[in-house]
Amino acid sequence: MATYPYYNLNDPFTINSEELKNNWELLEQKDKSTLLQAMWRNKAIADTYEPGSTFKLVTASAALEEKIAEVDKAGAFNCSGSIEIAGRRIKCWRYYRPHGSQSLRQALMNSCNPVFIGLGQKLGVSKYYEYLNKFGFLRKTGIDLPGEAGSIFLKEEKVGPVELATISFGQRFEVTPIQMITMVSTIANNGRYIYPRIVKQIQDAETGNVQDIETKFGDQVISEKTAQDILSMMTSVVSEGTGKNARVQGYNIGGKTGTSEDGVNTGKYVTSFIGVAPTDDPQLTILITLYNPTGEGGHQGGGVAAPVAGKILSEIISYLEIPESE
Ligand SMILES: [Zn+2]
Repeated sequence: MATYPYYNLNDPFTINSEELKNNWELLEQKDKSTLLQAMWRNKAIADTYEPGSTFKLVTASAALEEKIAEVDKAGAFNCSGSIEIAGRRIKCWRYYRPHGSQSLRQALMNSCNPVFIGLGQKLGVSKYYEYLNKFGFLRKTGIDLPGEAGSIFLKEEKVGPVELATISFGQRFEVTPIQMITMVSTIANNGRYIYPRIVKQIQDAETGNVQDIETKFGDQVISEKTAQDILSMMTSVVSEGTGKNARVQGYNIGGKTGTSEDGVNTGKYVTSFIGVAPTDDPQLTILITLYNPTGEGGHQGGGVAAPVAGKILSEIISYLEIPESE
């Protein structure tokens, strides 16, 4: 887990902004303390965000598991640029040039909103919330670090068709990055929930005693078959869909991009990429979340977050000496 802007852990009481540093002595103690607390936050576990289209992985998992969709059935879905839900028209992001006829794999590669809205409606609120719960989105992960935040979802009984529609493509709720990485790790782990942990082993420097911190598993959230299908679709997203910029030469990388607004009508975006590497024998999961990117890549996950993921993955893969995909 890494956060930017960072600060020097050996010098935690020095603020990391030049501007604030210059006026530091003029600030009141209370303000200093608030600013330091903000600088120390581990955003991966202490902050929530709207995941956007990366959450389509959850909708796709539930739909496949409940057998209301198949991966490669040609023309199973149709995007006309928008979909009407309870009298309200919700647009596809590519409403100006609709995606038309698609299989589920193509819909995930295109990140087509109407398809996932349709799947959410077919699943229904109570089934959908069952999967939110199974994937761990309705509770904290219990990671062994302080300050973990909980997610923000509407109460199940308050979710109508329109709310369900927006949840199905990743909007109008907030989760923590550690919940998202736990979800994708569950998929990478053949569908079985896996608890995140920080420490793998404790070794006593004097006695040499070794204490292993065991990996803790939870329930089978989706079948092995569904998990493999999701990984296969994620591989297509990176090999030829919106996640191409995360490619690593010689490896099958899987992923999904996402963009959402940071708050309502702020003009600020949160853009992300969530991925698995390599998808034929998963060793790594990754989540890159960029808050309000303003560079030349725009604010779409495929343009700015996916290339960062690709770069990091290629370095970790060579560091871990993971064999190339066949
Ligand atoms: Zn579409």
